[in-house]
Amino acid sequence: MTEATDERQVDILIVGAGLVGSLAAVFLARRGFAVDVYERRPDMRKVGISAGRSINLNISCRGLEALRRIGLVDDVLPEVVPMMGRMMHSRDGALTYQAYGKDDTEYGNSVSRGGLNKLLMDKAEATGQVRFHFNMKAQDSDFDRNSITFLDENNKTVIVRAAVIFGTDGAASAVREQMMKLDDFESSVEQLDYGYKELYIAPAEDGGFKLDKGALHIWPRGTYMLIALPNFDGSFTVTLFLPYKGDISFEKLTTEQSVRDFFTEHFADAAELMPDYVQAFMNNPTGHMETVKCHPWNVGGQCLLMGDAAHGIVPFFGQGMNCGFEDLSIFDECVEDHISQGGTIFVERRSHHREDERRNFGKLLHDGEANWLRVFTDFYERRKDNCDAIADMAVENFIEMRDKVGDPKFLLAKGVEKILEKKFPGKYISRYSLVTFSNVPYRLAQQAGTICDGILAELVAGIEKPDQVDLALAERLVDERLAPMLVDRPELKTKLTAK
Ligand SMILES: Cc1cc2nc3c(=O)[nH]c(=O)nc-3n(C[C@H](O)[C@H](O)[C@H](O)COP(=O)(O)OP(=O)(O)OC[C@H]3O[C@@H](n4cnc5c(N)ncnc54)[C@H](O)[C@@H]3O)c2cc1C
Repeated sequence: MTEATDERQVDILIVGAGLVGSLAAVFLARRGFAVDVYERRPDMRKVGISAGRSINLNISCRGLEALRRIGLVDDVLPEVVPMMGRMMHSRDGALTYQAYGKDDTEYGNSVSRGGLNKLLMDKAEATGQVRFHFNMKAQDSDFDRNSITFLDENNKTVIVRAAVIFGTDGAASAVREQMMKLDDFESSVEQLDYGYKELYIAPAEDGGFKLDKGALHIWPRGTYMLIALPNFDGSFTVTLFLPYKGDISFEKLTTEQSVRDFFTEHFADAAELMPDYVQAFMNNPTGHMETVKCHPWNVGGQCLLMGDAAHGIVPFFGQGMNCGFEDLSIFDECVEDHISQGGTIFVERRSHHREDERRNFGKLLHDGEANWLRVFTDFYERRKDNCDAIADMAVENFIEMRDKVGDPKFLLAKGVEKILEKKFPGKYISRYSLVTFSNVPYRLAQQAGTICDGILAELVAGIEKPDQVDLALAERLVDERLAPMLVDRPELKTKLTAK
């Protein structure tokens, strides 16, 4: 049963204090706005709750660029574990290493989700402009009054009216659900028929790592796989990706014995490093993955979705958080452009409100609404197509990992691609590198990737080993088809790396 209702009024309301919401708070506070962030969970800095799914994440160029833009990159870099490549584990325990990039400037970075989230909250509060409110679950809205209704831990209803609302409450966004009630708002959620389960490899007794810490470990097995990312403390977070249904699937792993048999048969070397994996498997939830697309991300100039709430993607390109952080770089650019063109962004400051102004708050805001609307529309136009592109590439990458990693033709093309990246730096850049090690728009990376596929298909015809590739033909094809869209891209001239 709900109890008494409390009504509050704020300038900027952010719903969701995850990675994107907390970073958004820093960006907006640094622009001078007073920000209130409402979060469903308790304060993870005070109570030992899990940060949620995927204990660690791969932060790449786009995520680092957003942190650099706001002056936080040097706070985060000492906490990341660089991963120079992938270590593939075969069934018999044999290891094969593949470097991530064309040289040692290109690699992945494993960062703790909880550590990063807490740091962003601390940095937001340190601005003096941000207040967090925990145990507040958004569940209703009134966009005529621009308010969100929350339920607190005592079942009390709290209505928060705001000049502007940012919905950063993740892939299952309640704010997006509310927008769905409005005309002209569209949303689709496509569930993957795969789930994931998190497991854990503890640090070695001497505090070291039980596997090579400089790599992302993969146990590819065709339709299912296990991966492990290193943590700063010597442990690894392990994730099993598996179909929900079928011969080898979650539906078959319902007893301890079936789990033990499955791991012994398919991941014996990993199982040896995880003495408690059977219990962990039985106790840990099975996570699901989905692609969320929606339109138009905002309600007038009043409310805007960002991060997974606007564009949830499956994790097979390691880009969800990176893409959400890039939202903030682009949003900040939109604000900057707007201001440099003589515009202002209008929000009445809380301290300036007199009681009579408060009553007219919604009306007062109307004056400012047009400006926010311009920024929101500009942001949507710059971002939507690129977010659709990474969503589609993430699904394609999943299919590639699932169906093609064992295909000799595919492996031959990948081998040729490595040669081209080394021989023609700056002219031949793979789709993976453009997504992971650069800030070019995702759509451009996707288009370049299609061209790369065409070039590789021509080059592998009639050869059996990568070093048989016709380099003269390769150079001609690269110069004709790919180089024109890549050379002179400003985003390729500077590269942010963790080392
Ligand atoms: C297995 C897995 C591995 C991944 N690996 C990577 C990776 O390596 N690299 C990468 O870049 N991305 C990765 N991702 C994606 C990444 O986790 C997300 O893109 C990222 O967390 C999105 O951040 P967000 O702040 O938008 O949403 P979230 O992290 O989901 O945060 C949303 C916040 O809103 C709160 N909230 C939810 N509902 C409400 C409500 N009703 N009221 C108030 N608060 C609410 C939640 O409690 C949470 O704090 C991975 C995802 C998965 C599932």
